[in-house]
Amino acid sequence: MHPLGPGQTVPVSRDQAHYLFGVMRLGLGDAVLLFDGVHGEWRAEVAEAGKRGGVLICQDQTKPQQNPPDLWLLFAPIKKARTDFIVEKATEMGAARICPVQTDFTNAERIRQDRLQAHAVEAAEQCGGTFVPPVAELEKLDRVLDGWPDDRHLMFCDEALVGAQEVLRAEAGSGKWAILIGPEGGFSPAERARLTAMPQAVAVSLGPRILRADTAAVAAMTIWQQALGDW
Ligand code: SAH
Repeated sequence: MHPLGPGQTVPVSRDQAHYLFGVMRLGLGDAVLLFDGVHGEWRAEVAEAGKRGGVLICQDQTKPQQNPPDLWLLFAPIKKARTDFIVEKATEMGAARICPVQTDFTNAERIRQDRLQAHAVEAAEQCGGTFVPPVAELEKLDRVLDGWPDDRHLMFCDEALVGAQEVLRAEAGSGKWAILIGPEGGFSPAERARLTAMPQAVAVSLGPRILRADTAAVAAMTIWQQALGDW
């Protein structure tokens, strides 16, 4: 990653050269928008364009850096296309960190972290964002909860509360948060007992219908952003 700033030169990799100069047909002097996740968005000009690489030079800042609120999304990976969807939507909706977790009833044993991270980059580009949430490696939920920080609230989306009155309220507390969405099989009784006993956890219902995990992730982020986030 190259920090962006006035006059900063940015080397273009082989893959990027193929896309910028081959697919997009950009040539010398043409403009591209760049962001590095820290210094906002910059307009850069093509200074060298070749088949195997090139150079861009930053001109001026077109957007300041805009970071999302301190919200993590924890979710149990499901089928590939739906997991991709969750990462894409979480990026658009303003997650600060995306953490795939393996729960008792999670079917996926493995994820391709690099591929999911690339989806997050693409989603940020698509929606004109300046921030890309890091996608963590898959970790066991128990492990994640073992080290859970005292000061981070956990919005536990519990399908057992379907139709109950447990909605997320602004009084639940400001500051650091995470949302937890279970797999298609839901949470095990042991997980539910552990989560319910955590002082940081706030069990929440997502309405009178059981949602699929990918829908639940988007719905939960909507509710959180509205009540406590930057909407
Ligand atoms: N198989 C389970 C449903 C799992 S839905 C069952 O039939 O009970 C997948 C995940 O989405 C759940 O673990 C939960 O985190 C979330 N979810 C879906 N609908 C919900 C609701 N109405 N309230 C709270 N969480 C919900």
